[in-house]
Amino acid sequence: MTLENEGGDAPGEVCGRCERICEPGELEKCPVCGHVFCLYCVYRVGSRNYCSRACGDSFFFGDADDDEDLPEE
Ligand SMILES: [Zn+2]
Ligand SMILES: [Zn+2]
Repeated sequence: MTLENEGGDAPGEVCGRCERICEPGELEKCPVCGHVFCLYCVYRVGSRNYCSRACGDSFFFGDADDDEDLPEE
């Protein structure tokens, strides 16, 4: 038996944006900043999900590798 659960919230179950406690299936990790966000805080760019507009835009306008747009030889 361990008493390590005393106090609370395990990391990975709380949205880093709204701080709501979520089920694991509701959470995603931002590919830009690595923060965890829930499906209510998601910001979508194309087919990808980000924690915020700032992250989505920076990733999109930054050095994103657009393998989808690569011309096929
Ligand atoms: Zn949230
Ligand atoms: Zn982010």
